[in-house]
Amino acid sequence: MHISGQWCGAESGATYDAINPAKGEVFATLPLGGREDARRAIAAANEAYASWSRVPLFDRTDLCMRMAQVIAAHEDELADILCTELGKPRHREATQEAQAVPLFYRQAAEVARYLEGSTLLARDSHKRITSFRRSRGVIGVITPWNFPAAIPSEYLPFAVVMGNTVVWNPPPTAAVTAATLMRYLVEAGLPRGVINLVIGPGAQVGDEIVTNPGTHAIALTGSSATGRVISARCGLKPRLMELGGNGPIVVLADADPRKAAKGIANACFYEAGQVCSAAERIFVADNLKNELVDEVVSQTNHWVPGDVWDRNVTLGPQNNMGVVEKMAAHLADATDRGATIVAGGGRPDLPGFFCEPTVLVDFDAESLVNTEETFGPIAPIRAFSSDDEAWRHINACELGLVSAVFTESVNDAWRWAEQLRTGIVVVNDPSSYWEPHIPFGGMAGAASGIGRLGGRHTLEFMSDLQTIVFHVE
Ligand code: NAD
Repeated sequence: MHISGQWCGAESGATYDAINPAKGEVFATLPLGGREDARRAIAAANEAYASWSRVPLFDRTDLCMRMAQVIAAHEDELADILCTELGKPRHREATQEAQAVPLFYRQAAEVARYLEGSTLLARDSHKRITSFRRSRGVIGVITPWNFPAAIPSEYLPFAVVMGNTVVWNPPPTAAVTAATLMRYLVEAGLPRGVINLVIGPGAQVGDEIVTNPGTHAIALTGSSATGRVISARCGLKPRLMELGGNGPIVVLADADPRKAAKGIANACFYEAGQVCSAAERIFVADNLKNELVDEVVSQTNHWVPGDVWDRNVTLGPQNNMGVVEKMAAHLADATDRGATIVAGGGRPDLPGFFCEPTVLVDFDAESLVNTEETFGPIAPIRAFSSDDEAWRHINACELGLVSAVFTESVNDAWRWAEQLRTGIVVVNDPSSYWEPHIPFGGMAGAASGIGRLGGRHTLEFMSDLQTIVFHVE
């Protein structure tokens, strides 16, 4: 853990074992922090805020640029750790995440430099009014395990560049990556107490961060269940919540099923399906169903589980046994309700927490694969004969993060985009298409989150709009 500029263990002295999910073996021992450590970190962040918030903006952007450089210089080491701790295939997903991380630090600096406020005209001719963005104070940042270097980086540089300080709680199953990233930030010259890393269970460390009056805003990426708990616990603090998804992908009657299948398989099986924008359920027009199912089944051959250090391995393990069990429960529920497994469905004969890439057809709209996020390598496919029927079944799920529509018709693409209640709709590419600066988040009323992340949207969350009114005689 890193609190007030010092590397430290838990005050209680407690530790826990980190497990390599590709082997099911212990590979590191970590401090198990508690509420007292979170309180220490919150106090350190408040102390640091007094000076950090006065550092000129352009000096803070310079720090973010240095952070980007240091992280990029350690890209190989970071990819090794992502491979060991998460089981991400080393030459694909681990490398891709490690390469993406510096972008966030550069982007925070670039966007912050040119952020503008506004001046307003007034009815009263004596008044001069301006509104501008200022720091909020101490931001509590709580992050998930699926992109344990990239997701914290969606928050940390954006918080500090706006003059805030941070208390960060990563998940216990990705804390080695968090400590590694923290080491790079310190190497780049992070001042004492500006970012404080506390490792420990969310229900204690995270809850202390959320409820303690010493934090002034909360940023969470995690499940909808955790989002609900934190919303109930954080009182009136501003919240940015990036929660679960159950991305529908829709293939309309005029689409090319072969092209769609490739994108669908990628969005279902990449990161073993452990992506919030994964394609978790596929609705296909009746006329294309058989062809699409055949194509998606043949795509599963490209997703090969095995030794994650091997260049030919493309499918890593699930993060923990809980995810494996959820995948099995969703499959059992779907088949009990009449669905058929046409590829995969089991676990390969490997150590660790692997699941086979799985294709399921004819799922019932009430089944868990349709109503909840599975977060496993699964492609559930269902045919539809009318748009209204498809919309009804898609809306049976309360999640609304990302969706995709495959069609050759611009008109149908717009019509569908306006019907789908998701924060992002991608046309003719999978739901998982994303770039760091585009506004990302759940639709209002859905259980996929609150607010928007990405570029200037993150900077807006990381700052308060303050209005100053001058009276001039
Ligand atoms: P999770 O909700 O179990 O945990 C997320 C974080 O919350 C962890 O750090 C955890 O320790 C902490 N936490 C848990 N209980 C807490 C509590 N009571 N108080 C404070 N903190 C608490 O999620 P996960 O399993 O780590 O991640 C997977 C989930 O994250 C999926 O639902 C996925 O869709 C979602 N996710 C969303 C996005 C997005 O951008 N919308 C991106 C990635 C992941």
